[in-house]
Amino acid sequence: MLCQNESYRLHRKQVKTWLYSQTFHAPALAVQVPVTVPELALGDAEMDEVPSFLDSIFWMAAPKKRRTIEVNRCRRRNPKKLIKVKTNIDMCPSCGHLKQKHVLCGFCYEKVHRETAMIRGQIKAEEGGPFRAATVETLILYEGEKPSAEDQGKRIIERPRKRPSWFTLY
Ligand SMILES: [Zn+2]
Repeated sequence: MLCQNESYRLHRKQVKTWLYSQTFHAPALAVQVPVTVPELALGDAEMDEVPSFLDSIFWMAAPKKRRTIEVNRCRRRNPKKLIKVKTNIDMCPSCGHLKQKHVLCGFCYEKVHRETAMIRGQIKAEEGGPFRAATVETLILYEGEKPSAEDQGKRIIERPRKRPSWFTLY
């Protein structure tokens, strides 16, 4: 009967000869290596060793010196990192809310948006289904308004309310 060491050596020899026979036929990177080969690279003593818990830790760089609170505050409160004070804020001329000078007023936009959505809903209900849009221009009339001579032949949508001051025709 073979002892453990001898059988191991025999096994290793067999794998080696098998590997050599493979390399003649296939490129080195494509050789199929049996699962037992990585274990062969280790000695008997290494194989018996219990894997240390340190093997599974990914070591990262750690600071070598403590940074003082002054240095940290200088970094954190650097003017580059602070939010800039805005000087381009103005009052909306129509509703009085604050807004940026170059930007549309959000409150006024929301009002127009809601009114337009209601008009769109009315048009949709009138058409009664998709792909039935009229081929003529549409005119929106509010309470107390009448179509002029130019508006002959246009589709007329009547809104059951007075025209809001912010919802002008032109
Ligand atoms: Zn506004």
